[in-house]
Amino acid sequence: MKLAIDGGTPVREAAPRMLYPGCSVYDEKEANEILKVAMARSPFRYYGYEPQHMADNFENAVKERFNIKNALGVTSGTAAVIVALKAAGIGPGDKVIVPACTFVATAGAVICAGAVPIFADVDDNLNINPDEIGRLADKYTKAVIAVPMAGNPCPMDRVVEEAKKYNLIVIEDVAQSMGSSLNGKPMGTWGDIGTFSFQLNKVLTTGEGGLVITNNDDYYERAVRYHDQGSFRKAGAKISTDVSRVLIGQNYRMSELTAAAAGIQLGKLDDIMIRMRAIKKQIKAGISDIKGIRFREILDKNGDAGTTIVMFLPDKEKTKRFVSALRAEKIPCGDMYEGTPVYMNPQIFYKKTIDTNGFPYNQFDEEIIYTEDMCPNAISIIPTIATLGVTPVLSQQDIDDIITAVRKVAAAVL
Ligand SMILES: *Cc1c(COP(=O)(O)O)cnc(C)c1O
Repeated sequence: MKLAIDGGTPVREAAPRMLYPGCSVYDEKEANEILKVAMARSPFRYYGYEPQHMADNFENAVKERFNIKNALGVTSGTAAVIVALKAAGIGPGDKVIVPACTFVATAGAVICAGAVPIFADVDDNLNINPDEIGRLADKYTKAVIAVPMAGNPCPMDRVVEEAKKYNLIVIEDVAQSMGSSLNGKPMGTWGDIGTFSFQLNKVLTTGEGGLVITNNDDYYERAVRYHDQGSFRKAGAKISTDVSRVLIGQNYRMSELTAAAAGIQLGKLDDIMIRMRAIKKQIKAGISDIKGIRFREILDKNGDAGTTIVMFLPDKEKTKRFVSALRAEKIPCGDMYEGTPVYMNPQIFYKKTIDTNGFPYNQFDEEIIYTEDMCPNAISIIPTIATLGVTPVLSQQDIDDIITAVRKVAAAVL
């Protein structure tokens, strides 16, 4: 059959509206909760006319859902990683190990926190190769950030074991995989601190928003202070100004409007997971016999967030053609960050920080050198990835069309 990209008839006339998992299940529940905040004229979490305590309630629900001692809503996933790093005492003169496959924000947050990212290679599951921790750890290394990529849980048992050997703090950037777990234990609860994002593309969304969770009370207090100009306060309570604890902070406070939507979205997380896993399974079953498509290894099938089908194709050129051809069939298909490891983003690779004096790269008695081939597996596999996004609302017709289109394009291209 002639491909749409070559002038043939596309499988569909219009693409399914399949992006944005959390947003696809917005309904009057989110609307009503946001309305409560508006009608109470109380969009600020700590005081106002009639505070609705949406942020407090959301954080309490998170603690219960994740069986964790502390939770703090913040303004974004990037803010969450910065707050986590600062809470753990990481800053100038420190190195942080970051996986080669992640969104640029993970590495950028490290630099914004005043530290420097050092890149670890990934396995074919796209997550950090735990053996890289020992290879990279030196006298400057303070932490490792594990990033469950596109729904797939990280081997956190191994990451934590390796990190312990080198006395590293473990942060989990779960921005794109909320709800994923390994052996029943949620991503974000294995290490010292977990972070999440509620940006539009994520499992749950409030447009913008983020979350920090930790069992460490000291990190929690530092996180609260750093995100609120050094203050520590509860709604209606006085700010603690104990001078032994105060510190200069930022403002990364979550708005009550955001928290209202976040609370409702959190209540939908389990349902979103169940539906996405089932849809993902159905699509995979429909394309699993295709020669030339290899699926990513999923470490725990029951713990996969189910957001994404990651396919490895034979080579870079075929991948480019496959992605374009599928899009022409009106099936959304993605690459993995334009086919490059995170450190090939020019601002990271060329160390283009906002500071002009070389900070924070000038904090070491050695030069920090990034090279294109420093993570050989990432460089070789990332350009061969095509992705299919999954949302909870795909219809049977959508699912059937995705399978039909992938089979059609694969037959012609692979
Ligand atoms: C999206 C994302 C972030 C950033 O989240 P924002 O809410 O957009 O700031 C950080 N890390 C990873 C891995 C992400 O996917």
